[in-house]
Amino acid sequence: MNEQEILAMYEDAGALLNGHFILSSGRHSARYLQSALVLMNIDHATKLAGELISKVHDADQIDMVVSPAIGGLVIGQEVARLMKKPFIFTERKEGEMQLRRGFSIAEGCRILVVEDVITTGGSVCECMAVVREYGGNPVQVLAVVDRAPDEQGRFDVPYATAIELNVETHAGDDCPICRAGLLPAIKPGSRGAA
Ligand SMILES: [Zn+2]
Repeated sequence: MNEQEILAMYEDAGALLNGHFILSSGRHSARYLQSALVLMNIDHATKLAGELISKVHDADQIDMVVSPAIGGLVIGQEVARLMKKPFIFTERKEGEMQLRRGFSIAEGCRILVVEDVITTGGSVCECMAVVREYGGNPVQVLAVVDRAPDEQGRFDVPYATAIELNVETHAGDDCPICRAGLLPAIKPGSRGAA
């Protein structure tokens, strides 16, 4: 699939939202990609996962797929299913990224980290930090969408995405949409936004 086909998939699913959004990074944006609306279609999830797998440097070198919850769960699981690898996830408890539910990572385990949408890359970095605490070795990061492709150096391992989409974001205390005062900022995914 090329980038245009993937974007068309998002548009057809009503997953390119316009409004006033608070991203997980805390920054504000007038556009939001609701990947869950694309990934709810299993056929789409399989196609996007296949696209990501085509960017894996060496599939034989991957022992396990790990995603940061919640955004990475569906695409991470689908990538792992197609690669026939185990899949686990990290999640936040009281704001801190952790490995829970009895999951563990063997010493030296080579990890593919998979996320749906990346902006600052904060969740992925926290996920990789947890993997390393357990002695795991993150070898590559894959994401469906990069929302800030101009930001380099977010990860210290190779990184690839299915599509790049430049979306302007603003600090919460310096947001022109807030200043206009017409549209309250909402957190997509929390409720109602999608
Ligand atoms: Zn705002």
